[in-house]
Amino acid sequence: MKRMTGIEVRHSLANASASEAANMVLPSNFVELDWENLDYLGWRDSHSPHLGYIIQWQGDRAVGIVVREADGPLSRRRMMMCQLCRATHTEHGVSLFSAKRTGEAGENGNTVGTYICANLGCSTNIRVDVPHASYYRDPQGLLAEKVSGLEARVTGFMNDVCRS
Ligand SMILES: [Zn+2]
Repeated sequence: MKRMTGIEVRHSLANASASEAANMVLPSNFVELDWENLDYLGWRDSHSPHLGYIIQWQGDRAVGIVVREADGPLSRRRMMMCQLCRATHTEHGVSLFSAKRTGEAGENGNTVGTYICANLGCSTNIRVDVPHASYYRDPQGLLAEKVSGLEARVTGFMNDVCRS
């Protein structure tokens, strides 16, 4: 994805209160992020570990949402599937995250929940989680498919949150 500035990231949050947006802590490695290998920007807040952020380009606009981890990582013995990148794994864990809807719905306590890689690192996970990549005739094509699927599902989730 195209690089974002810190200001773009801070101004992207569609479902955050003014204080939530002001308190957002950028990823510690923000200046050295490998944007080329990111499909969305996702990270956990180091000061408020139950919070995370998912930011994506929608056209020329950076659009982001704040998500809240519901109950901590789920059982690591069970294989869980991330609903955004479809990676199934136990190593990093999958968590249930909820996002407050924008507008009046959100003020009424309306949220959207989904299972996502606990570290919000789907972009990395789809790049390392290619089992037996050499077995596939077209590993690059397989990755491209995963990337476009991930981007589409992130957009779908954000649209759900931002639908007023
Ligand atoms: Zn994922």
